[in-house]
Amino acid sequence: LREQDKRHLWHPFTQQADWVQTDPLVIERGEGNWLIDTDGNRYLDGVSSLWTNVHGHRRPELDAALTEQLGKIAHSTLLGLGSVPSIELAARLTDIAPQGLTRVFYSDSGSTAVEIALKLAFQFCLQNGAPERSKFASMHNAYHGDTIGSVSVGGMDLFHATYRAMLFDSVKVESPYCYRCPFGQEPTQCDHQCDKQCFGHVADVMERHGHELAAFVIEPLVQGAAGQITHPHGYLRHVRELCDRHGVLLIADEVAVGFGKTGTMFACEQEEVSPDLLCLAKGISAGYLPLAATLTTERLYEGFLGRHEDFRTFFHGHTFTGNPLACAVAIRSLDLFASDCLLEHVRDIATHLADGLKPLAALPHVGDIRQRGIMTGIELVADRSTKAAYDVAERAGHRVCMLAREHGVIVRNLGDVIVLMPPLSVTHEEIGLLCTAVGKAIAEVTG
Ligand code: PMP
Repeated sequence: LREQDKRHLWHPFTQQADWVQTDPLVIERGEGNWLIDTDGNRYLDGVSSLWTNVHGHRRPELDAALTEQLGKIAHSTLLGLGSVPSIELAARLTDIAPQGLTRVFYSDSGSTAVEIALKLAFQFCLQNGAPERSKFASMHNAYHGDTIGSVSVGGMDLFHATYRAMLFDSVKVESPYCYRCPFGQEPTQCDHQCDKQCFGHVADVMERHGHELAAFVIEPLVQGAAGQITHPHGYLRHVRELCDRHGVLLIADEVAVGFGKTGTMFACEQEEVSPDLLCLAKGISAGYLPLAATLTTERLYEGFLGRHEDFRTFFHGHTFTGNPLACAVAIRSLDLFASDCLLEHVRDIATHLADGLKPLAALPHVGDIRQRGIMTGIELVADRSTKAAYDVAERAGHRVCMLAREHGVIVRNLGDVIVLMPPLSVTHEEIGLLCTAVGKAIAEVTG
């Protein structure tokens, strides 16, 4: 298998050299919060299989939901037909979503959920008396996916530089990244009083560009892929207020933060914000099958109702949209959130995790540890006093992850930020193991 993998597979985001140099790990089975490779080695899944498996692996209730649905039908199209699980799930999602989000448009990945939100916002403005609103505002350090539209509103050079000529421009807002404050502040000095600097900055951008914007796209509370950058309290609400003031739609990309990861079902709830469009994927189907949803308001939906003289179809639809198997698992996953009191569990685990991370904060090359709920980023630095980053060639983050594997946990690095995002079902004991293994790996790599 390893030989065939090296010969035939092209792994996403993996620098091919890494894969060839390191001994590839081939996962065969999952059990609770653990992954088991083809040699029978067990690893704690410290990233919930790329932030999806909120209940871990092989949860009997989810396996049963899948086989029950398989006994009925695996797939039927949503183009012109309905399916039982897709209808039931849409009703359930609108019940738990922030207020006013009453319509669900399904797709298959986080990228497409965002792409749909962008197209919906653009077309809504175009056909409802505001054709001048054709642009988007988005954040530095944002990651919204890999399709052309979602890359265009992204803010990480690593993913964008190569494709620049294919992308459309978006109005960029500085990311309120406290550890490396773009306004030159130190969190200890500014006391998180962001009013003048980052709150003022986004207000200025909106003042200048608000009139030409269809929508503002944001990852609420945490910019995940850029290294779990946590935003100051009140930032999201401030952006919502600015959007209201300037007639701009708000797109909340909760692909990463949604489904309990920050301690509430949706991150927007923590700032009592209702977006105009909400993008969901990853945890929605508990990591069992690809599924995504873009939720929106009745106002937007109404803007697409067909008229004889002005036909307003939304020209978008994927083959596997609203797949019945994926929707059936997603419904059962929502049941588990309730029966397991999972959100209470996450809040308890988050406190435990914060305690477990304290010894890591004392390590000489740990510059910053940021955490919201279960989402955690540990930023490594070559020099803590100057915050100087390691030389890229040292690949410190990557080496930490490789060593952590030897200590029995799978974690991922985003550059020199080590990301921890275990399944929400993780136990106190497993959190202890995760923190110890990662701490050990960091100490071994950074000395
Ligand atoms: N938005 C955010 C915030 C994400 O974190 C991701 C994936 N990491 C995406 C969109 C894209 O999702 P997918 O990989 O399922 O296309």
